[in-house]
Amino acid sequence: MTESSTLQKRVFALHQLINQYNHQYYVLDEPSVPDVEYDRLMRELIDIELQHPALKTLDSPSQKVGGEPLKAFTQVEHQVPMLSLDNVFSAQEWQAFDKRIQDRLKSTHDYALCAEPKLDGLAVSIRYENGIFVQAATRGDGTTGENITENVRTIKSIPLKLQGNDFPAILEVRGEVFMPKASFEQLNAKAIKKGEKTFANPRNAAAGSLRQLDSKITAQRNLAFYAYGMGYVSDVVSVLDESGKKFETQQEEWLSNSHYQRLCQLKALGLPMCPEVKLLKNADDVEAFYQNILTSRAALSYEIDGTVFKVDNITLQEKLGFVARAPRWAIAYKFPAQEELTTLEDVEFQVGRTGAITPVARLKPVFVGGVTVSNATLHNQDEITRLGIKINDTVVIRRAGDVIPQIVSVVIDKRPENAKDIHFPNTCPVCDSEVLRLEGEAVLRCTGGLFCGAQRKEAIKHFASRKAIDIDGLGDKLVEQLVDEKLIQTPADLFNLTELNISTMERMGKKSAQNLIKGLQNAKQTTLAKFIYSLGIREVGETTAANLAQHFLTFEKIKIADEESLQQVPDVGAVVAQNIVLFFQQPHNVEVVNELENIMSWPAIEVKSEDQQPLLNQTFVLTGTLNQMGRNEAKGHLQSLGAKVSGSISAKTHFLVAGEKAGSKLTKAQDLGVEVLTEQDMLNLLAMHGISL
Ligand code: NAD
Repeated sequence: MTESSTLQKRVFALHQLINQYNHQYYVLDEPSVPDVEYDRLMRELIDIELQHPALKTLDSPSQKVGGEPLKAFTQVEHQVPMLSLDNVFSAQEWQAFDKRIQDRLKSTHDYALCAEPKLDGLAVSIRYENGIFVQAATRGDGTTGENITENVRTIKSIPLKLQGNDFPAILEVRGEVFMPKASFEQLNAKAIKKGEKTFANPRNAAAGSLRQLDSKITAQRNLAFYAYGMGYVSDVVSVLDESGKKFETQQEEWLSNSHYQRLCQLKALGLPMCPEVKLLKNADDVEAFYQNILTSRAALSYEIDGTVFKVDNITLQEKLGFVARAPRWAIAYKFPAQEELTTLEDVEFQVGRTGAITPVARLKPVFVGGVTVSNATLHNQDEITRLGIKINDTVVIRRAGDVIPQIVSVVIDKRPENAKDIHFPNTCPVCDSEVLRLEGEAVLRCTGGLFCGAQRKEAIKHFASRKAIDIDGLGDKLVEQLVDEKLIQTPADLFNLTELNISTMERMGKKSAQNLIKGLQNAKQTTLAKFIYSLGIREVGETTAANLAQHFLTFEKIKIADEESLQQVPDVGAVVAQNIVLFFQQPHNVEVVNELENIMSWPAIEVKSEDQQPLLNQTFVLTGTLNQMGRNEAKGHLQSLGAKVSGSISAKTHFLVAGEKAGSKLTKAQDLGVEVLTEQDMLNLLAMHGISL
């Protein structure tokens, strides 16, 4: 094949690909590849066309603006075309643009520039007649746009009537409709919740929201607008004279010859103007403006993808003129891409400190958002299903600011034959215990809580904590050190520690070692409730542990209880019951528990007669700060009298004990007519039953 026919084929392929991407982006508001990929293809095409002008055809995508207007809307002919912008991506490219301007103006003209953020939304032209909003249109293909008057009317920041009295009889305002970042996130979060499609980015969300046939939908989308130019301006302008009398004058009397001043004129008429816009004295200030906006990008409430520089003087703009799809007097100086394409090479499963199993994408390293990214979290099974992702797929990866990299979408068109489904493991990749997804939870969890290497440190810290076994002299740092130095692996191993092996550790003197051994010795004597709590069974807090102890009386019975009998215990619902059963089904957990049972002891629980439980069937809720008796202590005493102590207030609550600074629970109790006790009332009640401070 000759070189020219190979090139011709490539040009044809580029036309097809770019046209397909244009359709997905402009017509469907659903791009399948990131902008950077599109820009690469467009650059390749333009470079070929520059070197081989014969290959530049009239129908080339390089000669066109945007996409065809949607037929569902009526069409609007633009009196002044709405063009695109040429791009530069580096300081060198910017300098080349600057040089082109100077060459065209045939001078080293020190020209002023209007510097603006490049808003990532879509261009809209709004027509005012005699100061009244009459029409709004999209850019469409630059000459013909879609009539979206009713939709734009719903955007709150766009005035339906211009302020003041000085304005042209016909004024077309050009600007960008965009969706603030916060609204975009809310919209997508809602869509995910409802299992609906999400928008790839705020630009597509804005475009999709604006190009709705039902303007009620647009109205709900919280869109915003900044004006950045004027289109058609009629010759006749109405102004007020000094005495307040209205008269007509010619356009040039009113219209400034500076682009920046024109934006200020629009602002004075009530149109929103981006606060970051600045007039630069000359090209020397371009780089600083660009860097400054790049630095503040993450903090802006709206998405931008670069900066725009426009020759400020309108006479010079007219001199410079246009090429097919963009003005010669303006340039978009774009930021490095935040989205890139790469390949998902594998998925690995990580076990977190709480046993949550997270799929992590191993990616072919790619430079995006200023760093090389080779991993991204895939969150959970639902996310994988939502993305419809397979191993070996081409994916769009996004890294914005310091935010952790995310897989945004899959490019289905590029799916290879060796694409493989992602399978979640049935057992924990760290400890081999069973993994389960509990009802109502999105994550998969390892059930080997007491044994699993990934969960070891947290499990031991919890076991040793004050409300659990309460081991004096064993803080979180020491637990980490003991695990790191492989002196312990499970809570049971703590009791095999000797003064000798503890004192070999860094920063551990003889005295501290002795204290710890003493603390461990003392901790062996506990209560059944504390022992159950110390095991760290998911969602078994202190109250549930105490209720379990009181209900079953012995640990043996709890270990073998089925879900049904567990649900007889106050506070234990289906999920907690399932967690308990699963915990004791794991052989690894059982091993550790058996060891602990041999080491620890607790007094038998007295079966209390009903007379010994004067508060039986009474539900208490404690709130606010109790000054004389800690909340936990109060709770324990109330429970010892048979009361149930709950964390939340409902119509079934009998008493609310309201300490200092009681908040919403107090209000709720009052609303529900629940009896409210002060701390002193509660102390009196306890004293009545023989419990005093
Ligand atoms: P553009 O977005 O690069 O630049 C022109 C547009 O910038 C204007 O129409 C206007 O809407 C906007 N703009 C924002 N701030 C502005 C300001 N201050 N002053 C003037 N205009 C401002 O050009 P385009 O023709 O709309 O689109 C081309 C770009 O769109 C590509 O470079 C690519 O990034 C993206 N694209 C992506 C895909 C895809 O598949 N991912 C497909 C088509 C286009």
